Amino acid sequence: MLQTSIKNESGVNQSAETLRLVLPLMTRHKIPATPENYAIWFHYVTNDRPGLTEYIDRLLERKTPFTEEVNEHIHQQFLSECDLRQAEQVRKEIASALAEATTALRHTGSEADHYRKVLGRFDKTCGTAETVDDIYSLLNTVLEETHNMQESMERLQQDFIAKSKDMDRLKQELDQVRKQASTDALTGLYNRTTFFDSLEAVDAESDPFINPYCVVMIDIDHFKRVNDTFGHLVGDKVIRFVADSLRQSTKGQDCASRYGGEEYALMLPNTTLVNAVTLCNRIREHIAKTNLVRSGTKESLGQITISAGVAQNRSGEGRIELLARADKALYLSKERGRNRVTASEE
Ligand code: GH3
Ligand code: MG
Ligand code: MG
Repeated sequence: MLQTSIKNESGVNQSAETLRLVLPLMTRHKIPATPENYAIWFHYVTNDRPGLTEYIDRLLERKTPFTEEVNEHIHQQFLSECDLRQAEQVRKEIASALAEATTALRHTGSEADHYRKVLGRFDKTCGTAETVDDIYSLLNTVLEETHNMQESMERLQQDFIAKSKDMDRLKQELDQVRKQASTDALTGLYNRTTFFDSLEAVDAESDPFINPYCVVMIDIDHFKRVNDTFGHLVGDKVIRFVADSLRQSTKGQDCASRYGGEEYALMLPNTTLVNAVTLCNRIREHIAKTNLVRSGTKESLGQITISAGVAQNRSGEGRIELLARADKALYLSKERGRNRVTASEE
């Protein structure tokens, strides 16, 4: 017999077990709930009719549909002389199984409430049912209700799956919108708004004597020349190249942003002035030594350089003053010849 095989035993527990196996099996194989069919599947599970279980297993293996003709054949072959004593035994077993199923279902949730009520009615009716046929017709309804219950649970599950897919999609859309709102479309760096948010958050948590932070203002040198010589599209590529260099050199809580045009701002939490200057010089050198060429002609764009101004937060200083110092340091870098990093010392 297939995996559902159990030994032929009597008793309340065994009856309940039998019913638990019979009802889903009949539902699964779309067996109409006639008294004859119930008897077939009851004996299939209890495995107490010589040859019946093996015969059905062969049908199952071959995936033979249980048509009316097949069901009739099985009944005639194996069960036609079922005696009254056996029928009475079956009736008792069904009644006790239903009683137990009712008790178990009493504790299920509200979705199963209707089902529980239906079984509750059987609980009472079974006690007074006179004939095996009475029980079988009740069983018919139990099977229908079981089927309905399964369908309703499946619908519930489908609803749940659909809803959770909706939630995933909405979350993705929200993430996308958030990303668009916080980043710059041309470079993918954070935008100016995010830079200010980051500055505000870091400033609130930073103590200049314990965990100082730095802001850096960066500007591409003589960028007008790039635009004028090679056009705006090439200019955009240069802006993206500098952005990539900044992104690659910053990490963790650092915030590399496009401040506007060919200007950038860095927010470097937990970083001293000396370390910020070192980092900026590394970025500056990398940019200066990269030979950018036009994609088609491979013509060199000439040396691209940046200038930067760095300032570390000070006790009692506002964020606007801090930015103004970084901007002033950038101006000094330009004034002193460009392609350099200046720390605000004032
Ligand atoms: P300096 O060394 O003094 O910074 O010289 P500069 O030529 O870079 O001077 P300036 O900052 O005045 O010029 C910036 C130019 O960048 C002006 C503007 O046309 C150009 N620009 C601003 N935004 C964009 C952009 O998104 N794409 C391109 N291709 N050019 C831009
Ligand atoms: Mg500029
Ligand atoms: Mg410039």
